[in-house]
Amino acid sequence: MRHKIVAGNWKMNKSLEAGMSLASEVINMVADEYHGNAQVVLGVPFTHLSAISKLTAGSTKVSVAAQNCSQFLSGAYTGEISVEMLQSVGAEWVIIGHSERREYFGETDAIVHEKTKTVLAANLKPIFCCGEPLAIREGGDYLNYVKAQLTNGLFAFSAEDFSKIVIAYEPIWAIGTGLTASPEQAQEMHAALRAHIAAHYGQEIADNTSLLYGGSVKANNAKELFSCPDVDGGLVGGAALQSREFTEIVKAI
Ligand code: PEP
Repeated sequence: MRHKIVAGNWKMNKSLEAGMSLASEVINMVADEYHGNAQVVLGVPFTHLSAISKLTAGSTKVSVAAQNCSQFLSGAYTGEISVEMLQSVGAEWVIIGHSERREYFGETDAIVHEKTKTVLAANLKPIFCCGEPLAIREGGDYLNYVKAQLTNGLFAFSAEDFSKIVIAYEPIWAIGTGLTASPEQAQEMHAALRAHIAAHYGQEIADNTSLLYGGSVKANNAKELFSCPDVDGGLVGGAALQSREFTEIVKAI
């Protein structure tokens, strides 16, 4: 079934103490003020997963994501974090292939594919990120660029595995810039991605795939973006760092 999801990506922000306060505030505000069925996900730093997953354990709506994981299962990979470690501290989701990971840490489509495979094998839920840089957007070939990210990163999976993946379209020119894709731009891409999925996996699987939009989503633009027929929620960076702003985005779904 296609789920509505609002996921926050805290990136490398917040001490443990500040993160626990933020998570508690969001959990309480969502419980008090949001009465819909959307799932709310907090993408927190690795160091915070254990403590914050204990806070979300009592919530029916809010759960916790890691922002990355290793493509390897265990061994001599200094500084890396495995899916088994993530499971052991209560993560339910893993954000994979964020543009900052692709751009600053050299994650290729092949690596992102391996990571997604590892996450699925551990029964964690991947949020697979894709999106084009400004030059590709301006050059006009942005639909093919992002479709190729899906083909290369995901289309080797069986239909059963693919059905467990959530996709977040995040145009790089809109991440952290204050520039947001217009609802028309978001809808155009999401419809193209859904058609691309349908061509490979069939219409039913495409219709059941949750496609999130990310890129400067704020309380004042979320409703417009979430009202697009093929936008099933959002992946939110900067605005996820304040409980009131983030909760207003959740309420916009
Ligand atoms: C992100 O990092 O995934 C993101 C969408 O950031 P922001 O909302 O700050 O643009």
